[in-house]
Amino acid sequence: MIGAGVVGLAVARRLALDGHDVVVLETEAAIGMHTSSRNSEVIHAGIYYVTDSLKAKLCVAGKWALYRYCEEHRVAHRRCGKLIVAAHEDQMPALERIHAQAQANGVDDLQWLSATQARAMEPQLACVGALYSPSTGIIDSHGLMLACQADAEQRGAVIALRSPVQRGRVRGDCIELDVGGAQPMRIQARVVVNSAGLHAQKLAAVLEGYPTDRVPPSYYCKGNYYSLGGRAPFSRLIYPVPESAGLGVHLTLDLAGQARFGPDVEWVDSIDYGVDPDRCAAFYREIRRYWPKLADGALQPAYAGIRPKIQAPGEAARDFCIEGPGDHGVAGLVNLFGIESPGLTASLAIAEHVHGLLF
Ligand SMILES: Cc1cc2nc3c(=O)[nH]c(=O)nc-3n(C[C@H](O)[C@H](O)[C@H](O)COP(=O)(O)OP(=O)(O)OC[C@H]3O[C@@H](n4cnc5c(N)ncnc54)[C@H](O)[C@@H]3O)c2cc1C
Repeated sequence: MIGAGVVGLAVARRLALDGHDVVVLETEAAIGMHTSSRNSEVIHAGIYYVTDSLKAKLCVAGKWALYRYCEEHRVAHRRCGKLIVAAHEDQMPALERIHAQAQANGVDDLQWLSATQARAMEPQLACVGALYSPSTGIIDSHGLMLACQADAEQRGAVIALRSPVQRGRVRGDCIELDVGGAQPMRIQARVVVNSAGLHAQKLAAVLEGYPTDRVPPSYYCKGNYYSLGGRAPFSRLIYPVPESAGLGVHLTLDLAGQARFGPDVEWVDSIDYGVDPDRCAAFYREIRRYWPKLADGALQPAYAGIRPKIQAPGEAARDFCIEGPGDHGVAGLVNLFGIESPGLTASLAIAEHVHGLLF
C-alpha cells in the first residue's frame, strides 16, 4: 500500500482481513495528514453523482457500510441530515434535477420541503424551497482512520511512517519500490495499491514499465473553510444548490456542534494549505443567500483542503479513476486517481472494489 490516508488505510484493512501481509508506506510522520483530515467530514447520501458512476455506486454503498462500521467500532458520527436549499425561484429547476439524480442513484429518502416547512426545521434559514436528506451525516474522520489502522494492525499489517516511495519498476513476478527516508530500502511486492492522493499521478509516472498513457492529468482545486465564532443556530447541514466545481459553500457542523463554512473553489498549482483572509467577503455573500442574519465579523479563517482533480478548470466533472490489472495490464497493481469527494464516505466501498480488482 502507498499512502496512509483514509482510502489507503481502508484498503490496507480489507487486504489484511483477507489474510495478506500488508505494509503501508507513508511519507509523513503520521497518518491522514493531507486530504483525509482537510475536508467537510460529511457522510454523503450519494445524491449528486452521475448515474452508474463509481462515485454514485461507491458513495451509496460506502455510506451504509460506514454507518454500520461506525456503530460497530464506536467511531464518533451523527446522522444529522441536511437541507439543500434554493435561494430563489430560478434555482428550483436545479433542485428538481438534483432530486431526479438522487432517485436514479437509489437515494429514495429525499423529502421536498416548502419554505415554511424548511423554516420550521431551521428558523433562521432563508429559502424558497428545499430538499431534506435524512441519511446525510457527519463523522470524526480521524477516528475512522484510527479504527481502520487498528483493524489492519491487529491482522498483522505494518504502517511504515516517514517512508516516501520515490520510484519503482514492474518486474516479471513483482513490483519493486524504492523507498526513501532515514533508512532507504527497496521493497518487492506482489501487490501494490497506489493510494497517494494528490501525488498518485506523479508516482504512477515514475513506475518503470507502467504505460504512461494511462496516467491521467492532475489538477489541484483548493477548498478554503471559515469557522463561525460561537454556536450556529442550525442543527442540520445546509447546502446551497451547487453552481461550480464543488458542492457550494455549505454549512457543516463538527461533532461538538461548531459550525464551519466551505469549501470554496480555488485552482492552485502547488500544495499550500494556508487560508487567505481576503477570501472572506465572498463567503459572507454566499452564506447570506441562505442565512441573511450572519453577523459582520463572525467568520474566521479555519483550514483548507485540496481536491485531487483529473479534469481541468471548466471541464465536466470526472468520475473516480480506479484502475486494476484488467485496465492497464500490470499484474498486482491498482492505481487510484482523482479520489476527491465523496472519497471519505466511499472509503470502505472503495476498499471492497479494489479487493475485487485484485483477487
Ligand atoms: C475540501 C474537501 C472537502 C471534502 N469533503 C468531503 C466530505 O465531506 N465527504 C466525503 O466523503 N469526502 C470529502 N472529501 C474527499 C475526501 O476527503 C477524499 O476523497 C479522501 O480523503 C481521499 O483520501 P486518500 O486516502 O485517497 O488521500 P489522502 O488523504 O491525501 O492520502 C494520501 C496519502 O498518501 C501519502 N503519500 C503521497 N505520496 C506518497 C509517496 N510517494 N509515498 C508514500 N506516501 C505518499 C500522503 O502523505 C497521504 O497521507 C473532501 C475533499 C476535499 C479536498
